[in-house]
Amino acid sequence: MKCLICSSSFLEIASWRKLLFIKSSQLVCEKCLNKFEKAEEKDCRNEWIGTHYEGALDSVNSIYNYNDWMKHVYQQYKFQLDVELANIFTSDFLPLLKVKAKIVPIPLHPDMLLARTFSQVDELLNAANVPFHHVLSKTLNHSQVGKSKKERISTELIFTVTKDVQNQNILLVDDLYTTGTTLHHAAYVLKKAGANTVDALTLIRA
Ligand SMILES: [Zn+2]
Repeated sequence: MKCLICSSSFLEIASWRKLLFIKSSQLVCEKCLNKFEKAEEKDCRNEWIGTHYEGALDSVNSIYNYNDWMKHVYQQYKFQLDVELANIFTSDFLPLLKVKAKIVPIPLHPDMLLARTFSQVDELLNAANVPFHHVLSKTLNHSQVGKSKKERISTELIFTVTKDVQNQNILLVDDLYTTGTTLHHAAYVLKKAGANTVDALTLIRA
């Protein structure tokens, strides 16, 4: 088999090990697989205490750390439009099949979607056959990079709610948690629109 990340050929793992690994991990050689680093449990909402977004998100969990390896792999996925790479994370998203909450991916701004041709978050969910609903629309397309926290939290809201979310439990899914701005803004507008709980899961945490 050929590794989806480094393209080197590798032997299919022995059958007894196949039972232990889920199919998706066989798309990547063991050397590449070992470079991923699981994120430790940490409540990264603390930074938002004292702002009016405090409490908007009920919880945030991330699967992987943004180490150099993940940066490399994710850039390949996101910026080189390598849709195939979504398949290597299939097993990470399979637990979402059991989640009762409504799964809502963070959308791209329409202009960005046009430029990128695919939504990286949607494709991660598609690869694992996880059903999801778009209830948010991204209305601002400017990057938050380089702004101080104070400026960030006083900017206009980035999202509008497009569907009825009253009394619903929502699980937001995004690719990367950096400052938390995106998820906090999304959770804030969802709660304002009547959502009961808003939790979040990201593939990576910076
Ligand atoms: Zn490899």
